[in-house]
Amino acid sequence: MTKVIAVLGAGISGVGAAVLAKKKGFDVFISDKGKITDDSKTVLLNNDIDWEEYTHTLEKIIKADEVIKSPGISDKIELIQKLNLNNIPVISEVEFAFRYTKAKIVAVTGSNGKTTTTLLLGHILKNAGYDVLVAGNIGVGFALSVAEKDYDYVVLELSSFQLDGIQDFRSDVAIILNITNDHLERYDYKLENYIASKFRITENQTATDFLIYNADDKLSNTIKSKAKKIPISLINEQKEGGYLNNKELIIKLNNKTMTIQELALQGKHNIFNSMAAAMAARVFEVKDSVIRQSMIDFQSVEHRLEHVLTVHGIDFINDSKATNVNASWFALESMQKDVVWIAGGVDKGNDYSELYEMVTNKVKAIICLGENNQKIINSFQGKVDTIVQASSMHEAVNQSFSLANKGEAVLLSPACASFDLFENYEDRGFKFKKSVRTL
Ligand code: ADP
Repeated sequence: MTKVIAVLGAGISGVGAAVLAKKKGFDVFISDKGKITDDSKTVLLNNDIDWEEYTHTLEKIIKADEVIKSPGISDKIELIQKLNLNNIPVISEVEFAFRYTKAKIVAVTGSNGKTTTTLLLGHILKNAGYDVLVAGNIGVGFALSVAEKDYDYVVLELSSFQLDGIQDFRSDVAIILNITNDHLERYDYKLENYIASKFRITENQTATDFLIYNADDKLSNTIKSKAKKIPISLINEQKEGGYLNNKELIIKLNNKTMTIQELALQGKHNIFNSMAAAMAARVFEVKDSVIRQSMIDFQSVEHRLEHVLTVHGIDFINDSKATNVNASWFALESMQKDVVWIAGGVDKGNDYSELYEMVTNKVKAIICLGENNQKIINSFQGKVDTIVQASSMHEAVNQSFSLANKGEAVLLSPACASFDLFENYEDRGFKFKKSVRTL
């Protein structure tokens, strides 16, 4: 009998998984508790895939031999619990697509820097002329791409939610950038559960694989693995690994050393991301000259320390993707000028004390933009001369323009989620850029 696959969630990954499953001859059904977009419906119709929206019909889903669940759906909902009780395997799109690719895989995870590192490595491998897919949490579906063509190399951005749904998924190179408190609401507010989820990135790796990890991060540092462990550090020299020698990046692997002098991306965190990407490229024997050139011509990623405009000598920088304190720490760290800092949004249990020193040294004024400003005000009162509140991005940008002087910078780096005043971090970043352009 034809095996039945049910897919839960008709977003990019779900629709892609459904198309791949159909192509591989399964009987496929896709179910979404919300609305399915017209674009998705067109893809489903074109591929002759059954779907339902605004509901999950248990009787139908429970008949499946295997369920592919979108990473956005929590394991705790009743439907998933029932599937578990009935011993129906629930996997992720990443696990499913993995079964159908022969590509060499690089998997990138961490609390911050995944997108930047994934895109940078993809850029290097493309510049090297490799046949490479860049996918995962990034807009392009892994499964959908595999349904269309198999690649030689895949660079995958993986969130902890995607790692939660793996079984046999194995990457030739795994990168773990850092681990800081984030998304704890999905892990019973236990950091150890979140760490365990991130560490799954290496659970199926073997001795011929590589694990590139953050030697400076006390949480990532504890990772155990069968793979060859390659440390990256901004602080200490490494026998084999990536480290800094003054301003030069040193990449040492298999008794070969390469150096990188120039980076397009700004900030310490990007030095780290660049060393991780360069190391992975070295594993695949990309030429030093290609790696160096790629570091110079990489275009920075939108909403991540993105320089928008300089108006009357004031730099406006969009770091809307900074949705936690650690990301904002690195943004502030990278600033060479006095800063008017626009922060705030939905607080995720932030501990702002990590930012005290940085803010005291670099920030002249804070503009709180969110529904929950009091915590920021309480945290920074007395540490910064001026703290004001804004109720829209437009207002925040106008305030920042009057507070900043020539030679200073305005930084949007919220340290918070965006869902109070905006649809998502992109919407927040676009509104910032739009307002800046009207100054
Ligand atoms: P992710 O995909 O993990 O969310 P991004 O590359 O989109 O990571 O960057 C998210 C935010 O974190 C941005 O504000 C960026 O400036 C900051 N960031 C990028 N790399 C790092 C890093 N290695 N450590 C800390 N913060 C980082």
